[in-house]
Amino acid sequence: MIKQFKNIKGGVILPHKKDTSEISSKIMPVPELVEIPMQQHIGAPCETLVKKGDQVYVGQIIGDSKQFVSAPIHSSVSGQVIETRKTMLFNGTVSESVVIKTDGLQTILPEISKPDISNKENFLKAVRNCGLTGLGGAGFPAHVKLNTKDRIPECLIVNAVECEPYITCDYRAIIEDGEEIIKGIKLILDNLAIPKAYIGIEDNKCSGAEKLEKLASEDDRIDVVVLKTKYPQGAEKMLIYALTGKKVPMGGLPIDVGTVVMNVTSVQTLARYCETGIPLISRRMTIDGEGIRERGNYHIVLGTYIKDIFEFCKGDKEKTLKILCGGPMMGMAAKDLDMPVIKQNNALLFMTQKDLDFIEESACIRCGRCIDACPMGLMPLTLNKYALAKMTEELVKYNLMNCIECGACSYVCPAKRHLVQSFRIGKELLKKEKVKNG
Ligand code: SF4
Ligand code: SF4
Repeated sequence: MIKQFKNIKGGVILPHKKDTSEISSKIMPVPELVEIPMQQHIGAPCETLVKKGDQVYVGQIIGDSKQFVSAPIHSSVSGQVIETRKTMLFNGTVSESVVIKTDGLQTILPEISKPDISNKENFLKAVRNCGLTGLGGAGFPAHVKLNTKDRIPECLIVNAVECEPYITCDYRAIIEDGEEIIKGIKLILDNLAIPKAYIGIEDNKCSGAEKLEKLASEDDRIDVVVLKTKYPQGAEKMLIYALTGKKVPMGGLPIDVGTVVMNVTSVQTLARYCETGIPLISRRMTIDGEGIRERGNYHIVLGTYIKDIFEFCKGDKEKTLKILCGGPMMGMAAKDLDMPVIKQNNALLFMTQKDLDFIEESACIRCGRCIDACPMGLMPLTLNKYALAKMTEELVKYNLMNCIECGACSYVCPAKRHLVQSFRIGKELLKKEKVKNG
């Protein structure tokens, strides 16, 4: 085990609140209906490959795209397609989706078999066929991330930081499926000729670090690095800096500094696919918040409606005031319980008055705390002012697009300014302007 290389600038110390960390994961039964969206990743949406009335099987490809930045979508259940329609996702995206009435048999597609992995090319093909995307919440297709063309990374960084309060699904993956994580890391190192891997984990997850250290001890290419707990150290650029001391340039990629970053659950999912041929059809999710009684981590098939999870975990409609997809810092509020879960959803938090801070937003008092907290060296108070005034030239000048939406500035703000919300609106304005100007 080695110590961290650099301390990140800014950032905040958050309450731990990981009450589900020592509860073993459970399996949620397959619901009667699932709805599987064709847009579950960053990049081009998939085209629907099935129609109403079709019989589908577990692991069958039901959506795909010819675009490079995309990932296939598989059926998570066996049953019959009863409808194809448009659906709203937690992040506001409207996606084509396939509604399947499950038959309760969970029959696996007969053609499914272990992928042939003998060289870099068919390894990357296997990563794509798995349908793997960043399971830490980013949703970037893994085969695109790992395809660094002629540039061989100096190291693979495995992100086991999980720095948001409440979320413990990566930690449970380490405790329950640590062997698969190490297998996944070895697969990536072997097939992409990467000489070194660092697993970054914070010092509030000591048993996880010890477990990984023990499992990795026979392979001297893999080091576990214990980082001092600080939010948002799990953000890609922050983690690269903490582990290597290298700074990804503005607008650049991790490979520009010789690194590739993968989430720890993504690595484990890849290992399982290579062992079984079963693609990404379910995931471990943290279900927490005062609004439900049965908190914990659950293996849930993709496409399950939030309302079914809420019911299964004994949710209280009266008490629940807000549903967050993701953590309290970067999560997004679900519009209603009728949304299906997708690959990116690592947590659902059913928040009550006790969980939420209802202090009203007030005027900025220019205390400067948000500037000190910003790990990207930005001026959140200034960006907030220009975002609200829709002053796009100024937003560009003050590097809004460099904001990683970590929420550290909002967290420390005594005036409870809705900073991140205004930055998301500002970024949308800049994107629209870019499209308009070609
Ligand atoms: S922390 Fe809040 S109140 Fe203080 S300067 Fe920043 S926006 Fe203003
Ligand atoms: S301005 Fe963006 S990057 Fe900086 S603290 Fe706020 S949300 Fe995080």
